[in-house]
Amino acid sequence: MPMNVQSISTLSDRVNQIRLLTAEIVNREILPNENRLWSFRRDGDVAESDRAAGRELRSDIQTKVKQAGLWAPHLPEEYGGCNLGFLEHAYMNEVLAYSMGAASLFGVVAPNSGNQKILAKYGTPEQKERWLVPLTEGKMESGFSMTEPDVPGSDPRSIQTTARRDGDQWVINGHKWFTSNGKRADFLIVMCRTEDPDGPAERNGKMTQIIVPTDTPGLDLVRGVEVWGRDSDHCEYLYDDVRVPVENQLGQTGSGHAAAQDRLGAGRVYHCMNSIGQMWRAFDLMVERAATREVHGGALETKQFIQGFIAESYIDIQSARLMTIHCAEQMEAGLDARTEISAIKVYVPQAYHRVVDRAIQVWGAAGVSGDLPLSAMYQGARTLRIADGPDEVHKILIAKNVMKEHHAGSGWDFGN
Ligand SMILES: Cc1cc2nc3c(=O)[nH]c(=O)nc-3n(C[C@H](O)[C@H](O)[C@H](O)COP(=O)(O)OP(=O)(O)OC[C@H]3O[C@@H](n4cnc5c(N)ncnc54)[C@H](O)[C@@H]3O)c2cc1C
Repeated sequence: MPMNVQSISTLSDRVNQIRLLTAEIVNREILPNENRLWSFRRDGDVAESDRAAGRELRSDIQTKVKQAGLWAPHLPEEYGGCNLGFLEHAYMNEVLAYSMGAASLFGVVAPNSGNQKILAKYGTPEQKERWLVPLTEGKMESGFSMTEPDVPGSDPRSIQTTARRDGDQWVINGHKWFTSNGKRADFLIVMCRTEDPDGPAERNGKMTQIIVPTDTPGLDLVRGVEVWGRDSDHCEYLYDDVRVPVENQLGQTGSGHAAAQDRLGAGRVYHCMNSIGQMWRAFDLMVERAATREVHGGALETKQFIQGFIAESYIDIQSARLMTIHCAEQMEAGLDARTEISAIKVYVPQAYHRVVDRAIQVWGAAGVSGDLPLSAMYQGARTLRIADGPDEVHKILIAKNVMKEHHAGSGWDFGN
């Protein structure tokens, strides 16, 4: 079933145009072809002719996306992107995410897209030439290597991987895991604690991001960590005296934490808008099944349990959506939206999880089958409650911010 996207009177013409154009491509080119497009992801035998047809179809759609001026919304035009503003991009994501995987046909593939943004913002001209350009042209792949197995990822100050300055080289030692896209990556952006005895004392021991080509001696890809019972490309890496030139340092020494926050802040709004797009898809699937499946002498839609699922899911989506748009508007206005970002990071994945869970229930066995996108959405929703900061950490931040306002004597501003 195609998604129903109409103009919204309170949005600018430009945002509406992006939403409608994106929906047109998703409805016409992607939804009817989902099985053929992603056949390469299926386990088991897929005929080479089907794989080739999938490749050709993906490339055709990418050309159409470029012609429509919607390619790589996160990138400036000089790197082939369409350079959307923050709100434009957020609204586009809601529509694009209706079909899981559609973003990749619009030039947005994590973690490459996050790395592209970081390179565009912090990279030197030489780094841009060597890493960013091939990454945007699809000639290179990349990963972001921050989380470690031995210390909590939810407390980035605990990172143990070190980079010691030795002449004109950084020497990296450490242990990372869950480096996504690790098997295919040509280079990793690695978060290290830098030690430079000759550098400024106040920067010593602080976080710095360093670019490491994956063929550098001493870098060992241990395994793709099994995730949800399947092999994955979320990889474990050992860094044993990995030497790279100091020119591979990204941004100032000690700026790694700020750069990671840059990546995550706006990223959380985009992720939440993605989740909302997927909630709409799960909702439409649930409604479609409720209207057509006959059980015990009547359509599912006539049963009160199922009506409850539909109503609760509608409430979940609308509340998640309005919270996220409110947060995005605060950010667009340049206001401090840290509390709102944490609030959506807790609420939206949980709401997404609930909506998909109900959709699966309504579909019965088909709901957990590979014939529908629901099982993949379910796993994605659950995973989101851990990645980019687990629920508990964000709840702590919300409470701290609220209490800070209270102790400052002002109380929480209802309008914000
Ligand atoms: C599919 C997937 C892909 C990922 N991709 C990447 C990637 O590309 N690059 C990368 O660097 N990382 C990646 N990660 C890692 C992710 O960022 C971390 O898993 C996340 O930051 C949490 O860290 P942790 O797993 O070490 O959990 P921990 O920090 O050990 O936390 C475990 C649990 O402890 C609880 N907890 C933590 N702090 C508190 C507290 N203060 N109070 C109460 N309870 C608390 C929470 O319930 C939390 O879930 C990925 C993870 C997944 C699942």
